[in-house]
Amino acid sequence: MNTNKAVFLDRDGVITQDPPHYAHRIDQLMLIEGSGLAIKKLNDAQFKVIVITNQSGVAKGMYEEKEIIIFNREMVRQLKQTDAHIDAIYYCPHHPEAKVQKYRTDCNCRKPKPGMLLEGAKKYNIDFKSSFLVGDKWSDIEAGQVAGCKTVLVKTGHGFQEFKNIKKPVDYIATDLLDAVQNFIL
Ligand SMILES: [Mg+2]
Ligand SMILES: [Zn+2]
Repeated sequence: MNTNKAVFLDRDGVITQDPPHYAHRIDQLMLIEGSGLAIKKLNDAQFKVIVITNQSGVAKGMYEEKEIIIFNREMVRQLKQTDAHIDAIYYCPHHPEAKVQKYRTDCNCRKPKPGMLLEGAKKYNIDFKSSFLVGDKWSDIEAGQVAGCKTVLVKTGHGFQEFKNIKKPVDYIATDLLDAVQNFIL
């Protein structure tokens, strides 16, 4: 059976602007410049583009799962305007100390755990060794490393602070997603 290669992307701070932290309303959605073009280039190079996002705001009672879905749908719509295509989006609404009991669990999907990558890999038959993870936090990088991807820390979002304190042997530090795609992944 043929395997696919993938780029797993964190959402907030990689594709969309962060702050605002815990963005969940459409009026808070702002794409980071160049992220659409970067994703389009990955599509053209036959990578599956899979978004994996921690959304503990749900566990904290700040917003509901349906708001994540509406926000994601709008992000996909805006990305389409530059011909960029997202193959799948996974989110984790849990937190071990959640205020909302339904979401209070030490799950396997919340990064730095690799659950969302494993789920995407199973569905799309992904070979981790030829795949990448791009994130703006060390918890993203750790999830990618546990799965066996090459990893990129971007300096957008939280990455601007994170890269000052290197916690993991990351493969590349990028200005933003477009830099990661053009100068490391492709
Ligand atoms: Mg992030
Ligand atoms: Zn989870």
